[in-house]
Amino acid sequence: MKVTRFPSNPGPAAWDAILPARVRFGALEADETTDWLIIGAGFAGLAAARRLSQLCPSDKITVLDALRVGEGPAGRNTGLMIDLPHDLASSDYGGDVSADKSIIARNRAAIAFAQDMVNALGVPPEAFQKVGKINGAASAKGMQHNKEYAAHLQQLGEPSQQLDAQQMQDITGSAYYRGGLFTPGTVMLQPALFVRSVARKLCSNRVKIYEQSKVLALKRSEGLWHAQSEHGSVKAPKVILAVNGHAQSFGHFKKRLVHVFTYGSMTRAFDAEKLSGKANWGLTPADPLGSTVRRISDTKGSRLIVRNRFTYEPKMAVNPSKLKRIWKTHDTSFKARFPELDGLKMEHRWGGHLCLSLNNVPAFGEVDDGLFSACCQNGLGTVQGTLGGMMAAEMAVGHCSDMLVELQALDAPKRLPPEPVATLGARARLAWGERQAGVEL
Ligand SMILES: Cc1cc2nc3c(=O)[nH]c(=O)nc-3n(C[C@H](O)[C@H](O)[C@H](O)COP(=O)(O)OP(=O)(O)OC[C@H]3O[C@@H](n4cnc5c(N)ncnc54)[C@H](O)[C@@H]3O)c2cc1C
Repeated sequence: MKVTRFPSNPGPAAWDAILPARVRFGALEADETTDWLIIGAGFAGLAAARRLSQLCPSDKITVLDALRVGEGPAGRNTGLMIDLPHDLASSDYGGDVSADKSIIARNRAAIAFAQDMVNALGVPPEAFQKVGKINGAASAKGMQHNKEYAAHLQQLGEPSQQLDAQQMQDITGSAYYRGGLFTPGTVMLQPALFVRSVARKLCSNRVKIYEQSKVLALKRSEGLWHAQSEHGSVKAPKVILAVNGHAQSFGHFKKRLVHVFTYGSMTRAFDAEKLSGKANWGLTPADPLGSTVRRISDTKGSRLIVRNRFTYEPKMAVNPSKLKRIWKTHDTSFKARFPELDGLKMEHRWGGHLCLSLNNVPAFGEVDDGLFSACCQNGLGTVQGTLGGMMAAEMAVGHCSDMLVELQALDAPKRLPPEPVATLGARARLAWGERQAGVEL
């Protein structure tokens, strides 16, 4: 079966671009036979490789990625590994209490697994910091969202702390926010450093990672899967598909996956003294369609990152003509929050593909004989991708766990309405939601 589309993300992967250059993993340039093939080296693919190497310590594992490790969505996100429910399609991120309790348990299992990789593989501590996050509110409506969210968290038995405008300013250096809701369980990633480091440390004489090696075709014959790349091929009895929305490009979950892009801008490094507040923090918006903002600092100074806007892209690529308007929104959001930094230039601007399902479930399970899917992370791929990868590995080796049983019991991604209703509906929903977000954007 020929793969129909390949990853295309606009702009540079900023988190990768600000790191020192690294040794390349190299592309696949031979025909190989292995015990396990993993397609995709994002959160899901790397977690699957790690879990397989624990469960089958003498097996050979090969990972292929179309892009360089750290340049795909796993290295392009805002780096918030959130333990709490984070349903982007809801008005306050929450849902049904018992479903949310299960989501929290799954998210925390993924964070614990990532923490274990950090410790066992020696990932630099600055790549993974459990410091919590704030839900920032800039309007009366945002404050109300936070109040409702806090009540929902209380029902779930989860701690949170309300912050007033002064406390928000003391943290962020910005007078923009009326208040915030702090929750302690979020991990802040330097996402490119995290995936680059995990990938590098996983490599051994048993685990091989090839980058810039897109799988062009995948077929099964004589009990083996054959993955064809440009300059080589891999044969394996079992394959884990960890390509997020591109599961559809491999012929799976057709008309069941929602493809959206979201976008980030990162300032150049500036003298940390120019902005009061703490050196490192991250906040999500009180309205799910508002702006996520982060500050990161190191010996070279501070940088601010703004992430906002979602566009619906059923063809999994963005027309560059849209980008100018999106960067303008970033600049407006940035200026409103940090007027004293007027003149500070954005050094990097980028976008990345993420995948949702209408019923907020993953595209998970054995989709063909020996072919396991760990795809569709519903916007929270740092945790849900990690979990999907771990669980796909467990399922593929026949290792039973309560969490796997729970994941297998979830519904399949719901079918999208027919075209043009799906596209018109999604675009109208996003436009309406972004208008409703108001000053939270
Ligand atoms: C700007 C932005 C901000 C975000 N912020 C957050 C956040 O703060 N927190 C959070 O949890 N999530 C966030 N996300 C979402 C998160 O990045 C994704 O959900 C996550 O990366 C999904 O992980 P994954 O491993 O499933 O898929 P991906 O990271 O998309 O990895 C899939 C890999 O498969 C590879 N691939 C695809 N097709 C092929 C092929 N034919 N052959 C070989 N390889 C192939 C791709 O190159 C890619 O590297 C954000 C996303 C963006 C774009």
